This record gives sequence, structure tokens and C-alpha cells, in this order.
Amino acid sequence: MTALTNLLDLDPAQLVEYCGELGEKPFRAKQLLRWIHQFGAHDFEAMTDLAKSLRDKLATRAMVAAPAVISDHTSTDGTRKWLLDVGQGNAVEAVFIPEENRGTLCISTQAGCAVNCRFCSTGKQGFSRNLTVGEIIGQLWMAEFELRKSKNIAPGPKGERQITNVVMMGMGEPLLNYEPTVTALKLMLDDNAYGLSRRRVTLSTSGVVPMIDKLSQDCAVALAVSLHASNDTLRDGLVPLNKKYPLRELMASCKRYLEFAPRDFVTFEYCMLDGVNDSDANARELIALVQGRSGSEAVSCKFNLIPFNPFPESGLKRSHNPRIKAFAQILMDAGIVTTVRKTRGDDIDAACGQLAGEVQDRTKVQERMQKMVEYQTKFGKNFGRIVEVFE
Ligand code: SF4
Repeated sequence: MTALTNLLDLDPAQLVEYCGELGEKPFRAKQLLRWIHQFGAHDFEAMTDLAKSLRDKLATRAMVAAPAVISDHTSTDGTRKWLLDVGQGNAVEAVFIPEENRGTLCISTQAGCAVNCRFCSTGKQGFSRNLTVGEIIGQLWMAEFELRKSKNIAPGPKGERQITNVVMMGMGEPLLNYEPTVTALKLMLDDNAYGLSRRRVTLSTSGVVPMIDKLSQDCAVALAVSLHASNDTLRDGLVPLNKKYPLRELMASCKRYLEFAPRDFVTFEYCMLDGVNDSDANARELIALVQGRSGSEAVSCKFNLIPFNPFPESGLKRSHNPRIKAFAQILMDAGIVTTVRKTRGDDIDAACGQLAGEVQDRTKVQERMQKMVEYQTKFGKNFGRIVEVFE
């Protein structure tokens, strides 16, 4: 017996090809895409505008299967986390963060991670395997339709979309699982599937320089880079990949990426580690780095400071709040938009560094807007265009 083809693994072009193999016209692929990704259908019998003969063929040769849900928890702040079975004892997470005007899903691209950043608990687990396209897009598929089901919202384009933004910030380094990641991205952007704009999809990387360049050509979505250090010596110790692609190369690739990016800035993520990377001198060194005054290319950017989530093996501590504030102030005084990420979903271990990522909250929006007016007066009216990390 031949294995069933999981249609979640196929991007729009591959689905056309697959329909061709079944002796079907290309428009059938569009219909299938809509049924699967817009209506959340997995039962071919329910796809009523497909010919009966096609439904019968699909029933014996294909399936629509996302990773099975092992657990499903909702935090008191509304954050919802699913633990998903990806086989052979591996599990990954998808985390949904509801906010006033948007819903962000943080997804994983690998089971475990080989990069082994010092402050990341995923890295400490080691690398198990790359996720398939179906396992990556299946997180979005499962989450969107589970969320709709719990709110009694109809599937299909008429029902209110629950996930408006996707961030690839969960387990794994997406650019080390390149092809499946890009295929999944293309499905997210396709109008017959999720139709998300490139600005609303963010890929976060620890800095795989050649693949940043490749992504700029293949599918330039918004880019976030896990920076975490202001010089190579420090970064070598925190993000081991830096030894291969040092800051000078990383900054140059970010600059090149911006020519193709949907936004005119790169988001630099910076995990605040007590006594390690959080001094005034570090902040000033960072400014010199991104402004191109330390031998690297200048990069239009904003900073997202992430209070570290301590875990026992790390031997690291979270920077104190006044230190984070002072650090942010130095960056802002240099004209760099800086936000401090509020940890969400702490009570269900969905906070950043606890396997999956999360995004900043909007509770301080008023405060930031006020600050923004101040900075616009100081640095020009366009300054405030970049207020939020993931819009
Ligand atoms: S921070 Fe990202 S790249 Fe680094 S170990 Fe964790 S999952 Fe991997």
C-alpha cells in the first residue's frame, strides 16, 4: 500500500502538479487550497464542489493531517499554547497571543535546535529534526480553526480571522530548515490560503547569513534577528553561530535584506541578561554597531528588549527592571525605537525562552505614543512610524 500524500505539505504550485498527476485541471488545486486553508476541511467528502470522482481519488491517495495536539492550555492573560506531537517522542509548541487589534501565532520550525544559544532552553535540549511543511503550516491550520471553533466563528473567508500575524520564533532556527520554512511562508501569503501580508509575517533568525540573502530573493517577509550582544566576543559566548557569521557579516546581510523587505527596518531582539550584556557601555556599543561606526554597515532598525526568563541550567539572571529601562533610554536617546517585551503566558510556560517565543503587549501603547511624540519632535515626523514590532 502506498503512503497517503499529506496535502498540507504542498504549496500552491505543487498542488497544481499533484492535481495534474491525478488527471485533474489546475483550477482544482485552487479549490483544494481554499477548502483546506480557508475552511479548515480535512474530509474530502465535505468538499462539495469537487467532482465525486476526484473526492474518491483523494480519499484513497491523500490526507490533510496536522500534528496531533498533546495538550492545550490557556493562560489567564488569554495566551493559548498547544503542545504538538511530531513523532518519535518529539513535541513542538505553537503559541497564540491575542491582543486588541490582532492575534499573533508563534510557530516552531524544528524539533529542538542545534544553535544552542546560552540563554535558550530549547537550545539546551539539542536538535532532534527538521519539521516538514505540513508540520509547520499545520500549526497555523490547527490553531486558526481551533480558535474559530472555540468562539463559534464559521470557517471560510467570511468568518472573522483569528490569526492576523505569524512569527517564526518558536522552537528552532527557521533558516536551518530552509525549504520547508519557505514553502510554509508561501502558503501563509497565498490569497487562496491565508492571504497574510508580508508585513504581518516575521521570521526570526539567529543570523544564518547566506540564508538571509536567499530569503530576500525567495520570500522576503519581515525580519527579526536575535542579536543579544554588542560585540563579537560577547556574542560568540551567547550565540555560538556568531563564530561562523560574525557581526560585521550579519550587519551587511541585514542591510542587503532591507532592499527587499516589506518593512524599512530590521527588528533586533536583545535578551537582557544581568551583568552580561546590559551595561550602559553595551548600549552605547550597540548604537555604534547599528549606526555603522564600528566598521560594520549601518542598519535601519528597532530594538526589542526581552527580559530573560531564567531556567536552572543557564546560570544566567534576568536584568533588573530599572537597568532595562536605563538601557532602553540610552538607545532611544540615540533615536532608535526601542520596546521592552512584556512576558506573557508565564503561568503556562509559554514565555520566551521556555520553548516558544512571545510578542510584546500593547498595554503601554499610550505611554509609548507619548514618548513617540517627544522623539518625533526631536528626530523628525517619520520617526514614529515604527511603533510596534509585529503589526
Ligand atoms: S534562541 Fe533560537 S536559535 Fe538560539 S537555541 Fe533557541 S531556538 Fe535555537
